[in-house]
Amino acid sequence: MKIYNTLSRKEDEFVPIEKGKVKMYCCGPTVYDYIHIGNLRTFIFYDILRRVFEHFGYEVEQVINLTDVDDKIIKNSRERKLSREEYTGAYTRFFFEDIEKVRIKPATVYPKATDNIDKMVEIIDVLLEKGFAYKTEDGIYYDISKFKDYGKLSGVKAGEGMSRIKADEYDKLAASDFALWKFWDESDGDIFWDKGIEKGRPGWHIECSAMSNRFLGDTIDIHSGAVDLIFPHHENEIAQSEAYTGKKFVNYWVHAEHLLVDGRKMSKSLHNFYTLRDLERLGFDPVSFRLMCLDTNYREKLNFTMDSLRRYEKTLNDINVSFKLLQKLEETDDSSIDGSIDESYSKFESALADNLNIPSALSQFFKLIEEANRCIAKGRVGKAEKRQLIGRLNDMNGILDILDKEEAGQEISRLAEERRKLRMKLDWSRADELRREVEEKGYSIVDMEGGDYVLVKRRRYISQG
Ligand SMILES: [Zn+2]
Repeated sequence: MKIYNTLSRKEDEFVPIEKGKVKMYCCGPTVYDYIHIGNLRTFIFYDILRRVFEHFGYEVEQVINLTDVDDKIIKNSRERKLSREEYTGAYTRFFFEDIEKVRIKPATVYPKATDNIDKMVEIIDVLLEKGFAYKTEDGIYYDISKFKDYGKLSGVKAGEGMSRIKADEYDKLAASDFALWKFWDESDGDIFWDKGIEKGRPGWHIECSAMSNRFLGDTIDIHSGAVDLIFPHHENEIAQSEAYTGKKFVNYWVHAEHLLVDGRKMSKSLHNFYTLRDLERLGFDPVSFRLMCLDTNYREKLNFTMDSLRRYEKTLNDINVSFKLLQKLEETDDSSIDGSIDESYSKFESALADNLNIPSALSQFFKLIEEANRCIAKGRVGKAEKRQLIGRLNDMNGILDILDKEEAGQEISRLAEERRKLRMKLDWSRADELRREVEEKGYSIVDMEGGDYVLVKRRRYISQG
């Protein structure tokens, strides 16, 4: 399998450190607010990355960290008179709710930065001892001039007359010595750790070096994040980790591109800023957003528009209607198996192995849905062909995860069955009443030839004909 490696600047054949295993670290959210749909695009990519390796038989250990202490968290929690734990605890819960709605499989572990302070202090001690770090009056800094490989990931070089940066967020153009540990001052209130070095708190970059090392070891297979983390965050992680262990930190650096809204960078001031909750309030199914993300290559910018989301919602609905109808379709004894089904599946797998070309893989899924639609139009399907189509669509869905999971409950099924009987008695008006009742309960009834029907999840932007 090939994957684009930011470090080598080309597609590399993936060779794991340990046969059959992948050690993967993905930079997680800072839990100071709701995550926005740009963040969510990255997290959906992590999910796909992990599922593709699992699909090819690897056992994946995936670590996604939660940054639960930084400048903004301290400022916001103090302003709201909440403890750091209360404040970040709430947004951590919202994060888990959001990722579940877009069907992200849980990572192996979600370590919190504040549960790993000991490891950070241990690394900082070693960096001080080895001469890669120095103390000032306000903190402990990393001396990037001491790390000769600085810039190997991003191409940003350490220059002359280095400045020092204490803040977690700063101008991303110039290389600077960065804070490993920030000494306490009054603005931090009661948020500090007293762990053998002067009381204070960690800088952002050291958190990921520490958690990656603690959970996955000195050298890992894959480290992933959005492209804006390449510099300085990932460059600084390399400097810290490789100076600490004396070994290569990461074999494959994998970065996902940004999401734009209406062709522009998403920002609150441009009023084009959305969270998943905003999309839900507008009536969208979160899985439509997942489908939209799958349909753009991870190395390309995704341009989000409401119109395109509506189209994906419609596509998602159509796919699910077809899949349901296929399952109920009358079988014939005709056992001819169409060779194109296997061909589509093998193209699907090749696309996955080709640097996760998910849009191309998705197009093979759509091809099989078209195949299903042809059978539906004919009103019947060969038994073997049906089994094969359903099997392959389910296999593909193991990566894509866009088919409806939940079945209509007993009450809805009873109403739909009642309606069918009324239609047989040609009692259209009462049948229509029951149809509306089913719709109010979140399902649509799609009628088949001969009076049979299927129930599919109702989506707001779709009107059933
Ligand atoms: Zn990170």
